[in-house]
Amino acid sequence: MRVLEGGSFIGGSFFEEQFAQSLNIPYCVGTGNGTDALFLILKALDLQPGDEVIVPAWGCFPTAEAVTLAGGKLVFAEVDAARMTLDPQQATQKITSRTRAIIAVHLYGQPADLTAIASICEQHKIYLVEDCAQAHYTQFHGRYVGTFGVAAAFSFYPTKNLGAYGDAGCVVTQHEALAVKIRRLANHGALHRTDHLLEGTNSRIDTWQAAVLAVKLRHLPAWTARRIALASRYQHALRGISDLILPHAAADSIHTFHLFCIRTPHRDALKKFLREAGIETIIHYPQGLPFTPAYAYRRHTETDYPVTARLQQEVLSLPLYPELTDSQLEYVISTVKDFFDNHVATRQ
Ligand SMILES: *Cc1c(COP(=O)(O)O)cnc(C)c1O
Repeated sequence: MRVLEGGSFIGGSFFEEQFAQSLNIPYCVGTGNGTDALFLILKALDLQPGDEVIVPAWGCFPTAEAVTLAGGKLVFAEVDAARMTLDPQQATQKITSRTRAIIAVHLYGQPADLTAIASICEQHKIYLVEDCAQAHYTQFHGRYVGTFGVAAAFSFYPTKNLGAYGDAGCVVTQHEALAVKIRRLANHGALHRTDHLLEGTNSRIDTWQAAVLAVKLRHLPAWTARRIALASRYQHALRGISDLILPHAAADSIHTFHLFCIRTPHRDALKKFLREAGIETIIHYPQGLPFTPAYAYRRHTETDYPVTARLQQEVLSLPLYPELTDSQLEYVISTVKDFFDNHVATRQ
């Protein structure tokens, strides 16, 4: 009501301050969405044509898209099969004299191996950018992700762990000059009405979305705890089933389970079985990034990215969200068990 009565609809510094404070990082700049947040970071780092940016081959399309949008050259590197995040060794092999940045994606709420990736970036003098679109309040070595790189992008797309009532996103960073530059780029190159020092774009957070996010932010710790509790129940109940790989739980991290992504060679049959039992599941993602039609021109083959090629056939996200009730969770668990006990065709 205050937004509507105030009559000011662009920008949300009240939310930016609260979000930055909650992550213990000095600067937050609201953006139109998470894709723009990534694009603006790369733009602010002065990516030049031909500059290469390494992106994990397994992940969400916008991460790759942002590199090209910012004028960079996209380079895919294979992921680690257990974490399903960037494999540091594989990333190292993709570094050339033109590499300017690595984007570490904390996929599904699982932190990437930031110790290894940060040290590679330091050694090669390239930027570490974090894609935290699926990782609000995810922790690595006792620190929130988003605070390790030169800057981090968050998405507040409605389905994310912190979701607006429409599109929204933000950049967080420790660096004041970078924050100011990103704010400028997101506002037609101007900080005030008409001081256009350069060309940028229009990607600001709507005040209405910031207001929704400021209210929802108060609930994020409880929602995150509920996700973790539900995931832990899945982990215990589904342990020990052969042909079923559960999410990797690294002892040094807090996985916030944006998605509870399992793997099984019986994925399609399991998905069908669950659907017939009234349980909706989603495949995140049906194709690895190198194999999406948009990148067909690059002619990547499955032998180039064998882990990614395998994941796209095996992953399945089980229902997990804070509102999922205990009895719904138990129903999913018993249905999954029933499938593996009684309905799996003879083991291959
Ligand atoms: C959702 C998402 C994005 C893009 O965020 P939008 O707000 O939808 O633009 C980028 N990266 C990852 C990993 C995502 O999950």
